[in-house]
Amino acid sequence: MERKRIYLSSPTMHGEEQAFVQSAFDTNWVAPLGPNVDAFEKEMGDYIGGGYAAALSAGTAAIHLAVILAGVKEGDVVFAQSLTFAASVNPACYEKAKPVFIDSEPDTWNMDPVALEKAFEKYPHPAAVIAVHLYGTPSKIDRIRDICKKHQVPLIEDAAEALGSSFKGQKLGTFGDYGILSFNGNKIITSSGGGMLLCSDEAKIKRARFLATQARDPARYYQHSTIGYNYRMSNVVAGIGRGQLLHLEEHKARKNEIYRQYKEAFADIEAITMNPMNPDGDANNWLSCMTIAPDCSVTPDQVMDALAEYNIETRPIWKPMHLQPVFADCDFIQVKEGRSVSEDIFNRGVCLPSDIKNTPEDMKLIISLIRKVFEK
Ligand SMILES: *Cc1c(COP(=O)(O)O)cnc(C)c1O
Repeated sequence: MERKRIYLSSPTMHGEEQAFVQSAFDTNWVAPLGPNVDAFEKEMGDYIGGGYAAALSAGTAAIHLAVILAGVKEGDVVFAQSLTFAASVNPACYEKAKPVFIDSEPDTWNMDPVALEKAFEKYPHPAAVIAVHLYGTPSKIDRIRDICKKHQVPLIEDAAEALGSSFKGQKLGTFGDYGILSFNGNKIITSSGGGMLLCSDEAKIKRARFLATQARDPARYYQHSTIGYNYRMSNVVAGIGRGQLLHLEEHKARKNEIYRQYKEAFADIEAITMNPMNPDGDANNWLSCMTIAPDCSVTPDQVMDALAEYNIETRPIWKPMHLQPVFADCDFIQVKEGRSVSEDIFNRGVCLPSDIKNTPEDMKLIISLIRKVFEK
């Protein structure tokens, strides 16, 4: 018999999700929009502590609308964190902008404010900055925001992996001119698929909802004065999201506990370092990650292979965008030439199983398998 699969991060449902979905069926609100969508937006706004939200079909759609609302146009330069998932950046390319990638700092693995400043010296007028809170760890978002303000450039804050995390007591997703959330299946809560655009400016959110519903002018016939999209969240999907939001804090507490367990279990192995926390922040620990010391002979592949043998899912650290074939012609700004922090993290890192359904036995097995690799 095949061993039970242990996942990196898979959906965890509770029951309320189904009740909200049932109410959508009972009232025949299965079509796009409806009471669950309105309520999900309001409940998320309340949770993150103010501002407005537009529920959308994906986090990627939210980033795309943010890029459009920020005024990004063909040929514009957009600064983007290199160490991220491609969806952070692709929407800038939908608008035919030119990404310039910014290196990470070792302290948070996120956009290095020093590298960002340096990028402004070379490209004084980018159309937007896209910053990410990778794996749920808060970036130095106050410094990044100050730099963007100083240069009067809109900040798009990709908090897709960081719902529930905060920085100096303020929820992530609320620092940028635009914030982005994702409810994709592997995220800390899921609606089966979906995302949200966050903004403190109600007019901007109204504009986003307009663009997301095919940009129909207020006329009796279909009339369009701008290009629209079909990006809205369905009322069924929003029901799942509402049910999940009730359990976000619980998911976060479990993720925090998983990170703590790994950290404690590997404390005596010098070659293992867990992904960094921001002392000014409170992370959701969406994924726990480790890096292997440069002088250690163990490779990330050896760790991943050892776990794969037991049907345990792992993943390399996200491959930086400046190393992606599709972005080969894009510039990359780092603090010290020839010393790419993001590339170093990619080369030495592994994302560990961070599924909140992991049992104590699962965690024990994962930890003992990893320890064994380093004891050889
Ligand atoms: C998941 C993710 C996205 C995209 O969200 P989708 O809902 O899958 O479109 C964007 N940015 C980051 C950093 C992500 O991890």
